[in-house]
Amino acid sequence: MTEMSRKPEAVAEAIRKAQRIAVCSHVNPDGDTLGCATAMRLALTKLGKEVSLFCDGKVPDVLTFLPGAEEIRIPTGKEGPFDLMLAVDVSDEKRLGSCTALRTVSAHTAQIDHHPTNPLYMEINSVDGSAPATAVMIREQLKVLDVDLTPEIAVCLYTGISTDTGNFSFASTNAECFSIMSELMEQQLPLARLNRILFRDHAMPQVKLLSRALGSLKYFENGQIATMKLTRDDFNGCHALSEHADTLVNYALDTIGTRMAMLAREAGGGKIKFSLRAKEPDTINDVAQAFGGGGHPQASGITMDGPLEAAMDKVLDAMIRKLNG
Ligand code: 5GP
Ligand code: MN
Repeated sequence: MTEMSRKPEAVAEAIRKAQRIAVCSHVNPDGDTLGCATAMRLALTKLGKEVSLFCDGKVPDVLTFLPGAEEIRIPTGKEGPFDLMLAVDVSDEKRLGSCTALRTVSAHTAQIDHHPTNPLYMEINSVDGSAPATAVMIREQLKVLDVDLTPEIAVCLYTGISTDTGNFSFASTNAECFSIMSELMEQQLPLARLNRILFRDHAMPQVKLLSRALGSLKYFENGQIATMKLTRDDFNGCHALSEHADTLVNYALDTIGTRMAMLAREAGGGKIKFSLRAKEPDTINDVAQAFGGGGHPQASGITMDGPLEAAMDKVLDAMIRKLNG
């Protein structure tokens, strides 16, 4: 197996040899995967490449300000051929969703990612499990490609770095984040405006959904584990989309004395989507992996078959065993 490390020169060489490039984000797209894709679109266009952006999922409303977000397409199966497919922030092949079909119409494949659980599934794998965001790696990639930052690229990279570091609060936040931030500020980054959009403004359905999630809150093991759930009825009753549930698990985790938290939501097709969180030094990715999920030590996810209560019981059991293990 290839070694897990940053390989910006290898990715740059693949990019230089390619003309038509497909850049792919992960399902349930977040600020990092979309910030990286839109930054790469701007950079590759500057290099004279033909760039297409793909994601098996809708861009969350909160991220539609990203320059080029409107260019992102769900693959139809008719795309291609491409000289290079580049996945950004996609921790494993399953998270490509329908973008996985682009592999067969791409002459070469590469990825840039920061998930320690990444199985290095492309031809070229620039993967650094210790990077706080894939956007940090994209900054370095642009340097190697000799593409200067612009105010638009700065908006994309800030979105990736700030969202994946919990607005510069997670343990993963490091000096590299801040030295890049210094460069982004020199590009007239509208920090206060973007900070409000990304971390303070909430759509009304999201606030209503929060009320339902808090109504379902339960504590176990003397409050060390907290769980919340959202049913289809909850989403429908609040006119909410799945994206409106994306950060709600933190309300459970933020209880003093709580070490691990779960938010289980009924997704489409009878599937249950779990958001799992832990406070350092506890970890939760091993619990997620036991059910075929994955992610980061303190922020992981699982998608599994329902029904909701039965799936929650299984994951809760594993969390209790982990807590006492
Ligand atoms: P969230 O709870 O915010 O949806 O996801 C947290 C992290 O867990 C994501 O950054 C992603 O790495 C990972 N993750 C979420 N859902 C899944 C899933 O269904 N499968 C895998 N392998 N990872 C997931
Ligand atoms: Mn990421």
